[in-house]
Amino acid sequence: MARDDLQVCLNCHNTGVPDARGRCPRCHTPLDFRRRHSLQKSWAALVASIVLLVPANLMPISIVYLNGSRREDTIFSGIVSLGSGNIPIAAVVFIASILVPFIKVLVMLTLLLSIYFRCEQGLKTRIRLLRVVNWVGRWSMLDLFVISLTMSLVNRDQLMAFTMGPAALFFGAAVILTIMSVEWLDSRLLWDAHATGNAHYTD
Ligand SMILES: [Zn+2]
Repeated sequence: MARDDLQVCLNCHNTGVPDARGRCPRCHTPLDFRRRHSLQKSWAALVASIVLLVPANLMPISIVYLNGSRREDTIFSGIVSLGSGNIPIAAVVFIASILVPFIKVLVMLTLLLSIYFRCEQGLKTRIRLLRVVNWVGRWSMLDLFVISLTMSLVNRDQLMAFTMGPAALFFGAAVILTIMSVEWLDSRLLWDAHATGNAHYTD
């Protein structure tokens, strides 16, 4: 059975025919075939997160005072100095703070460009990529967690003072914006290149 007038409600997940005023028959949320302004919001969040990733990687993320001398570390130089002592921890920090954010931004860029150019190839792969990025989202704060954990451990033995640098703020904001970009993308837009005459579904 294929009916064109059936719509899913994103609020209560009821699938039905909208009432006379175009609302969900169960919870009265206004229904749309595609989430409103999904593409614009997703692009905006992604571009903002790319911009924020620049200061996040160039500015110091940690400032350590040791024996009266001040030492600043960016994410990368911090990983390098961690790597000389503890390679597994350096690997975790590298994956959480450089590899994962970079891959997420790259995947979202690919998905949004594929929607823009109405690409029809590799739909399954793209849906899988979106699911992976969605799943990875919940681990994105791992790096800030590692930093704050280190901070509390280091501060306990009073040998050195440790504070977060300005990059931590930019990094956190970039991570949140990438999660919002994933969240705001209506995955149904990926299918629209296959449908003909559905140009009115995209906004
Ligand atoms: Zn509803």
